[in-house]
Amino acid sequence: METVRFDELELNPQILRGIKDMGFEEASPIQAQAIPVVLRGRDIIGQAQTGSGKTAAFGIPVLEKVDPDNKKTQVIILSPTRELAIQVADEIRKLSKYMHGIKILPVYGGQEISKQIRSLKGGAQVIIGTPGRVMDHLRRKTIRCDFVNTIVLDEADEMLNMGFREDIETILEYIPEERQTVLFSATMPKAIMDITKKYQKDAVTIKVVKKELTVPSIDQYYYDVKRKDKVDVLTRLLDYYDPKLSIVFCNTKRMVDELASELQGRGYFAEGLHGDMKQSQRDRVMNSFRNGKTEILIATDVAARGIDVDDVEAVFNFDIPQDDEYYVHRIGRTGRAGRTGRAFTFVKGKEVYKLKDIQRYCKTKILAQPIPTSEDVAQIKAEKIMDKVSQIIEEEDLTAMINMIDEQVNESDYTSMDIAAAFLKMALGETESESESSDNYDFGNTGAEDGMVRLFINIGKKQKVKPGDILGAIAGESGMPGKLVGAIDMYDKYTFVEVPSEYGREVLNAMKNVKIKGKSISIEPANGK
Ligand code: AMP
Repeated sequence: METVRFDELELNPQILRGIKDMGFEEASPIQAQAIPVVLRGRDIIGQAQTGSGKTAAFGIPVLEKVDPDNKKTQVIILSPTRELAIQVADEIRKLSKYMHGIKILPVYGGQEISKQIRSLKGGAQVIIGTPGRVMDHLRRKTIRCDFVNTIVLDEADEMLNMGFREDIETILEYIPEERQTVLFSATMPKAIMDITKKYQKDAVTIKVVKKELTVPSIDQYYYDVKRKDKVDVLTRLLDYYDPKLSIVFCNTKRMVDELASELQGRGYFAEGLHGDMKQSQRDRVMNSFRNGKTEILIATDVAARGIDVDDVEAVFNFDIPQDDEYYVHRIGRTGRAGRTGRAFTFVKGKEVYKLKDIQRYCKTKILAQPIPTSEDVAQIKAEKIMDKVSQIIEEEDLTAMINMIDEQVNESDYTSMDIAAAFLKMALGETESESESSDNYDFGNTGAEDGMVRLFINIGKKQKVKPGDILGAIAGESGMPGKLVGAIDMYDKYTFVEVPSEYGREVLNAMKNVKIKGKSISIEPANGK
């Protein structure tokens, strides 16, 4: 796989800084091919799916062209949906973080037009909009095209499917002829080809060529997980399958760093590996992984290239890979040298479509799997402990231990079964407390009266909150009768409130995402007085 670093693309240093902040390690295949061509001013037809990095593939070169001193609209990007328009605007904003004087504005149906008109009056060089709304603004002359030099049709096939063909054609007629027309589409039906013929000049077609590949026989599963739950699901799977060595793939260096410290914090032997690390650091991490001291390696695609460790039992795609070929490379890190391997991929929402592409490309099945419950984890741990116990009974001399247990049974009211069960509980201890910790809080000493717990809320008199507001929120959200709420101590910026211990957990859970006087709050058990 050919690799291209962003600093090889002769980009404006401010954009390079933005890219660096986003944690991208190298250009994705569509970026590597499209950016130089768009920079040269050519029209392009890019065939790329969501998840391939196509937004930056057009976003980066488009930003290169924008003149920050001219406040007039210079680029119009058409998106099929309001969600995509917002997403694209966010991505381009991040890319342009260090550029001065650039305004990026999404406009879409459903948002008050008068508000948009006000924002447009302030001048936005890059407008990202749904076709209907952009048309509306063009008609009202609230968007003017005199200085527009680039138009991007993002997800053109989707826009046609949604019936925007006429709008798109009208918009294209508005824009000066000596423009650059960039089109991205996942598929290339005839209707798209017609548009490209009619409205593009000598367009270069760019698609990522895919080689036929065979994927080794690895069990492949996927889980539909929300972003915020990914770490919990990962640790659940690590506990359940207990792989000796595993590699977790992330798409960005920043995610690698974040996940490494998160897993270390939870007591896993995990280390990150990415291109920003010094060679000596990388060698240290790789040695530690090879000799099993590090059990979980968290890596970007680039960093993991060439990893030649044979007994990797599991690969996790914490982020879905940006390219089908990456998927094959990633999962090929396991199941080596005739060993068995498992690959787990986390997807959220629409990413499931990307997974379908991967399956088609790899001609393999990736099966949906339920996430193991904490009881499943405890069960499998117990089975492992029992296997180990049988082995010890078979192979070791236990006379001294049997005597001690005998003594204990004679001196107390316990049976040997009770004692064995208690030992098993001790051995399982970690799993049990872990499963509880997800929804149980350790109140410890919160400095409350007997039978009560004292909770800390990060809102107080300064926010014009009154004790009644706190009482009302707690009673309203948790369903606990208001009269059970104990002392409420208000300070300028925070408040302590006491509730009966048995309601403590319920109140904390119920108040997690609550707003008081329009402000999001955080609530936690107070520290002892
Ligand atoms: P897109 O295909 O534009 O929807 O991008 C999918 C995701 O990949 C977005 O979250 C981007 O921020 C991210 N992304 C884009 N380019 C890269 C890159 N070169 N390396 C890592 N992540 C990227």
